[in-house]
Amino acid sequence: MSLCIELTGKTAIVTGGSSGIGLSISQVLLKAGARVIIIDIDEKRFISVKDEIEKISPEFDFYEADIKNSEKISETIQKIISKESKIDILVNNAGIVKDGLLIRMSDEDWLDVINVNLNGMFYITKNVLKHMFKAKSGRIISIASVIGEIGNTGQANYAASKAGIIALTKSIAKEYAARGILANAIAPGFIKTVMTDKLPEDIKDAIKKGIPLNKIGEPYDIANAVLFLCSELSGYITGSVMNVNGGMYM
Ligand code: NAP
Repeated sequence: MSLCIELTGKTAIVTGGSSGIGLSISQVLLKAGARVIIIDIDEKRFISVKDEIEKISPEFDFYEADIKNSEKISETIQKIISKESKIDILVNNAGIVKDGLLIRMSDEDWLDVINVNLNGMFYITKNVLKHMFKAKSGRIISIASVIGEIGNTGQANYAASKAGIIALTKSIAKEYAARGILANAIAPGFIKTVMTDKLPEDIKDAIKKGIPLNKIGEPYDIANAVLFLCSELSGYITGSVMNVNGGMYM
């Protein structure tokens, strides 16, 4: 087994792959030689980063789809499979936040977050799994959050969705291990992206103080963990949650 991670010949889907952590995951997988198919909600965002991606490799494609739309996702995965003929890796990364105290949280904000973060993962994974099942191999890596493990004030919807991602991952790992399909989750801590840039500076400083490594994570910290979980080096890991958080809350 080579100790160098090499994904040439592998095809990966990355949801939310044109921004933040997802963009970094797309770039790292391309650098490792994989073909990367990005699914994201807004083609304009993808176009704004297309040149950046192209500098790494031309081996990518883009599909605009809302992951909470079950029919659209089923149709999109069918299109991808007929064009690519195989999917080796699925990275469930797309996610949103709609924060607020539970007592004031609207049904809409609750449902939006659960629909994108958890139901979206279910729709994509179900469709991709049918294909991996026939191929008798596959890697599914889903981006959860430290908040899914410990909860958070003002993030009941987000915490529940991310805890759901962890439970869904563990169930997939058990159901499909015998078919050579490995499913793992990554629980990032606090990572610098547009999702976290919105927070006031004093809150960011307070969060940083609670991180033993004394720095906010970068998107590539998560992308590197995804790369490991896609590789031959992690062939005996399934049903796990990898904490990538600088020691936060441990
Ligand atoms: P981000 O920069 O906002 O990227 C998320 C991407 O997903 C965006 O391109 C977004 O498009 C897309 N997206 C949103 N809703 C979608 C939908 N319904 N269908 C398809 N695509 C959709 O966020 P990020 O910080 O990189 O987060 C990536 C993942 O890491 C999320 O699951 C997040 O919960 C998780 N995470 C992040 C942190 C952190 O500190 N940043 C910590 C723990 C976990 P638009 O921008 O156009 O909406």
